[in-house]
Amino acid sequence: MGDLVAILSHMNTEAGTGRVIPISSAAGIGRKSMAKINSISITEFAFKTPDIGLETAAAGVGNMSYVKGNQFEAKRFAIRLKTDQGHSGEYVTNWISTPSSFGQAVMLAPTLLGRNPEHREAIYDALKREARAYDHMGHGMLDIALWDLIGKMNGVSVKAMLGGYRDTLPTYASTYHGQESAGGLCTPEAYADYAQHCQSVGFHGIKIHGWMNGDVARESKNLRGVRKRVGDDWRIMLDPACTLKTWNDALAVGRVCDEINCFWYEDPYMDSSVSATGQLRLREKLATPLLVSEHIRGLEQKASFMLAGGCDMIHADPEYDMGITGVMKIAHFCEALGLDLQLHAAGPAHRLCMSAMRNTHMYEMALVGPSMPNIIAPVYTCGYSDQPVDLPADGCVPVPDGPGLGVVYDWDFINTHETQTVLVK
Ligand SMILES: [Mg+2]
Repeated sequence: MGDLVAILSHMNTEAGTGRVIPISSAAGIGRKSMAKINSISITEFAFKTPDIGLETAAAGVGNMSYVKGNQFEAKRFAIRLKTDQGHSGEYVTNWISTPSSFGQAVMLAPTLLGRNPEHREAIYDALKREARAYDHMGHGMLDIALWDLIGKMNGVSVKAMLGGYRDTLPTYASTYHGQESAGGLCTPEAYADYAQHCQSVGFHGIKIHGWMNGDVARESKNLRGVRKRVGDDWRIMLDPACTLKTWNDALAVGRVCDEINCFWYEDPYMDSSVSATGQLRLREKLATPLLVSEHIRGLEQKASFMLAGGCDMIHADPEYDMGITGVMKIAHFCEALGLDLQLHAAGPAHRLCMSAMRNTHMYEMALVGPSMPNIIAPVYTCGYSDQPVDLPADGCVPVPDGPGLGVVYDWDFINTHETQTVLVK
């Protein structure tokens, strides 16, 4: 103990005087008193997107279709963290919107009360433990708001905090699923037309989400038609999104992916892409890299899935995988093992994570289709956009670099369209 006191005295002794400087006035140490998080608000709000409808009653991603003149109502969540020193951090979900996710965020929010926001890693562990019986879908949005808060407290961008690798992101078009009704992506010809359009406006590739009934012949025809239309050098990816009914169906479509030189093959069949053994057996027979793990949650489970042979590439999403904190842990695990990681879906947090990664390829503008806007809440006053009409000519979207997440939210819109708010304080 005596040695420790001596070391501390030495470390805080003014040069040449022997005078001990109090810790609180030593340069850069204790420069401010500790802030504590003292409130968390979680607001659900609704907004409408034109010309989008549903093929069936269920409002899942796979049922979206082109319906001219319709106004599709969707919901998203706006998080605001505040500290006892007047700082605030914000995040609006780009993708997550289910009642289950809202409930998990509400359940987890009290864990943040009284915490030093700069203890982000400790908070990550606390939230992870608290949600261990659930699927963690409320954790990510809180972590992302925390990064915004820390960045704004220190006047620094999350982009700089993460450590930049790139300033703009090559972007691919990620399509809506095929529809059975007329319009949108209803035929292989419609897919080929739309792929050609995406190629002409600068996208760096296209990911096909096919039809929901898992018809091997139609999916195969679609792949061949799109490849023929766009030529040999443009990237095509296929994501059946777990719609192919059997492993044999997944193998048959996978062989067409090999034939047309797909860049990756994602979540092929109805194991919900959680069977490492089933995916390993596909990998043994296919040349196309398998991108699987969208539904394997977080660092430990993705690592175990990959080490069990379940994928060639890892998928991660800051809204799904416990925030920016969780995604960067996964990215660094992948980097160590020579694995490439793809960010699932779009949003400011996704762009920031991708900006700091070497081992990744393209940003996913999800979801897009002919005359079909992306269902993104119109809550940005800073020009941020994930709409295909706003894609820069070089097909690369910018990375926000203002303080915190680097985007400015339209709280008037959010509050005007609020459907419910839970305030935890
Ligand atoms: Mg997917």
